[in-house]
Amino acid sequence: MSEKERSLNFLEHIIEEDIREGFPKENLRFRFPPEPNGYLHIGHASSICLNFGLGLDYKAPVNLRFDDTNPEKEEQEYVDAIKKDVEWLGYEWDKECYASDYFQQLYDWAVELIKKGKAYVDSQTSEEIAAQKGTPSKAGEESPYRNRSVEENLDLFERMRKGEFRSGEHVLRARIDMASSNMLMRDPIMYRILHRSHHRTGNDWPIYPMYDWTHGESDYIEQVSHSFCTLEFAMHRELYEWFLDNVYDDGRVKPKQREFARRNLSHTIVSKRKLLQLVKEGVVTGWDDPRMPTISGLRRRGYTAESIRNFADTVGIAKRENLVDVSLLEFCIREDLNKKAPRVMAVLDPVKVVITNYPEGQEEWLDAENNPEDENAGFRKVPFSREIYIEREDFREEANRKFFRLKLGGEVRLKNAYIIKAEDCVKDSEGNVTEIRCTYDALSKSGSGTEESMRKVKGTLHWVSVPHAIEAEVRIYDRLFTDAEPDGHKDKDFMEFINPDSLNITRGYVEPSLKEAGAGERYQFQRLGYFCVDKDSKTGKLVFNKTVGLRDTWAKIQDKN
Ligand code: ATP
Ligand code: MG
Repeated sequence: MSEKERSLNFLEHIIEEDIREGFPKENLRFRFPPEPNGYLHIGHASSICLNFGLGLDYKAPVNLRFDDTNPEKEEQEYVDAIKKDVEWLGYEWDKECYASDYFQQLYDWAVELIKKGKAYVDSQTSEEIAAQKGTPSKAGEESPYRNRSVEENLDLFERMRKGEFRSGEHVLRARIDMASSNMLMRDPIMYRILHRSHHRTGNDWPIYPMYDWTHGESDYIEQVSHSFCTLEFAMHRELYEWFLDNVYDDGRVKPKQREFARRNLSHTIVSKRKLLQLVKEGVVTGWDDPRMPTISGLRRRGYTAESIRNFADTVGIAKRENLVDVSLLEFCIREDLNKKAPRVMAVLDPVKVVITNYPEGQEEWLDAENNPEDENAGFRKVPFSREIYIEREDFREEANRKFFRLKLGGEVRLKNAYIIKAEDCVKDSEGNVTEIRCTYDALSKSGSGTEESMRKVKGTLHWVSVPHAIEAEVRIYDRLFTDAEPDGHKDKDFMEFINPDSLNITRGYVEPSLKEAGAGERYQFQRLGYFCVDKDSKTGKLVFNKTVGLRDTWAKIQDKN
């Protein structure tokens, strides 16, 4: 959808209003501000598509800003992964920025605040400070250090910066109002002492600025016009503005913070901290495990960037939180792959069929259409021979008339090939069918133009020629959580809802055209679903991930319940 075709969301209305009131369009600037403490997830995709989408719509620059003020949790690995994901989603940032690049400027501003009597060094323990916070209905208590002289504050803050104190010995607090009805305004902490090496500034800084102090000032330094964040920051807005007012110069852009609802996806978790727990505890194989709701997990699973952008667009931006059903995400990828993924044949639970009247040793290469939804996709050749594999569940010795697949005495068409008729089957001592014996109608070849080739039979099956088949490992996934809202329970931890059967590995056979298939390639295995070549795959050892089924089987199951 182009910008003009869809109606504006409430954030776009805010921008439009600002422009109407005289805000110069050329001063519009946005940012996406991830904390590099984990990999990006599908929730972040909403924020990325929002901010970068606004950049495209208004032809305004968008910065990628790493909010890297907590060296205890942040790492270069995460910075690299975030950059890769944003790029892969198809967006280009204007500047790559780091809050840590502003540490000196922030420090200088903090000194200004001290000089104006608007910040002070508190030497109490964090417990003491917490005990004085008060409650929403009861004012907090002032710290005994609140009225230190400017000189003393300047001296202590400078020595904090030099590293003369131990972690936790002092903090710098804004001096606002301990009786404010907004508890965040009750002398919030601006700096803490932390002797910890930072992934970019190394050991330069023994003090680190807090989020609230950093975020608005970073927006201001970069001259971001609209700073969009999620609802949990709504109460922080007052503080955001208080901090800005203390450094703001007339004539420069004063950033505007507005909030939108966090996106939650059913049957999954969108919290980096909790996703990290899944990785650390080995519930999944890593951040890019195809069951993870991370961008990297979805990519490995076979999702396209377009499908994720489409999903974010469809879900849109809301003022109130709600749970988006994961089947909408699945719908988006199915719709995209239906157009893009070549259709091939694979048999994942094989049983052998012997066509007794087909000459031994003979093979034929038949024409198969790559994708009827894409007229440029063309045709390929698939080999046919006397022995083929079909899916075990596509055969029954006996079945009623509604079973349109193969049964003894019945006929089916083999996709792109002939009509066969099941004559007999061979079983092992336990009664399992090991071989189905069929005959074929030699005149019924698909596309041959004969009357027999146009003969209608009820079922069409996919198949793979036994001597040409290539073995493949196929990883089939189910939801990682058994509950729609695994972290929505007060009395239960999300880990209690892990689905023990979320991964099922099987061995199947694929047609030989897939022999050289490379990591990341996506296919439709006809009648089975969409599959993507995994990064573990090599020639000679193909590995596929199931991306999604052809239909929304999940919705059907839920309907039945
Ligand atoms: P998490 O709890 O997963 O760590 P976060 O909000 O702490 O999320 P950040 O790296 O700080 O993660 O987020 C970067 C940006 O993405 C922020 O502007 C944040 O508001 C936004 N964001 C994070 N999660 C979601 C979500 N589920 N839906 C929409 N936006 C989100
Ligand atoms: Mg955060």
